[in-house]
Amino acid sequence: MPKTTPLPKASRERLAALAAQPHFHRGRYQNLEPVTSRGLGDFLRWQLAPGRRFPPGKRYTLLRPDAHLLINPPAEPQLTWLGHASFLFQYQGLNLLTDPVLSDRASPFQLVGPKRFTPPALTVAEMPPIHLVLISHNHYDHLDEATVRQLHRRFGDNLCFCIPMGLRRWFEKRGIHNLVELDWWQSTPLPLATQSEVFCLPAQHFSGRTPTDTNTSLWCGWLLEIAGFRFYFGGDTGYGKIFRDIGELFSPIDLALIPIGAYDPRWFMAPVHVAPEEAVRIHQDIGARQSVGMHWGTFVLTDEPMDEPPRRLQLALERQGISESAFRVMQHGEVWSI
Ligand code: ZN
Ligand code: ZN
Repeated sequence: MPKTTPLPKASRERLAALAAQPHFHRGRYQNLEPVTSRGLGDFLRWQLAPGRRFPPGKRYTLLRPDAHLLINPPAEPQLTWLGHASFLFQYQGLNLLTDPVLSDRASPFQLVGPKRFTPPALTVAEMPPIHLVLISHNHYDHLDEATVRQLHRRFGDNLCFCIPMGLRRWFEKRGIHNLVELDWWQSTPLPLATQSEVFCLPAQHFSGRTPTDTNTSLWCGWLLEIAGFRFYFGGDTGYGKIFRDIGELFSPIDLALIPIGAYDPRWFMAPVHVAPEEAVRIHQDIGARQSVGMHWGTFVLTDEPMDEPPRRLQLALERQGISESAFRVMQHGEVWSI
């Protein structure tokens, strides 16, 4: 396993300088580069519009993760795709989830809103003990109240949620107090056996769960450094200069989860969701040794055909002369030892 060196002092100073960039104004967070902003109204109208369908007859295979592998993971980092942006990452005795969403709909309601077409690969009861959850932002396809409550019920205060600024109250209202709430470019060490630190990094996106709370909480990506291994979770994002900044500080990144789906139509989605070609640029910008495409194949959120993101990813990699294996997609429920 190639080991990365801890951040040098110059990088710490650079982080502090980047953290000083203004991104909060009159109670609302802002992207670092100005982007066309569309409110939650547009977003919901967009998402609730009829006509978006899973291709008839098309279903993805759902693999059943081997419970033994999850309870006794190998020494190498192990990744399991639960669907959409939800992954289980295991390394050095740490079990971590990204944006766990196990519900049937990515919506405030269980009767309307984007429906899940591929079931989640695991229930909370089937999971190994989870220590850490990374939440990228509060959209319904990333922050699912039912899943969060189930996780808290099973793991209690042993489970720590890493959340971007502005989400503390949402969690505390639900009785969850083991929280690490960070702003962009901030970091904190984690109380684990091995040396580890988690960094909250910017993404280009927006937030909101109700008509009035647009951008009152932050959106982000996360970088976890654990025993010299760098794991990056990109959350939801459009393409921007931020990725060159991230690369400057953290390249090489050992494993990166980068969104590749929910990009059409571009007039609406480009500022906030990358297309596969831009996902490949992110992979290059941040210096990822290995990337995995996420945010596709689970919920029908946007207009592109459900099976298009991996095909476009493959073409984009070919055009850039990058090996297909360096930026792959996983099958739902696949357990991969890296
Ligand atoms: Zn989002
Ligand atoms: Zn999303």
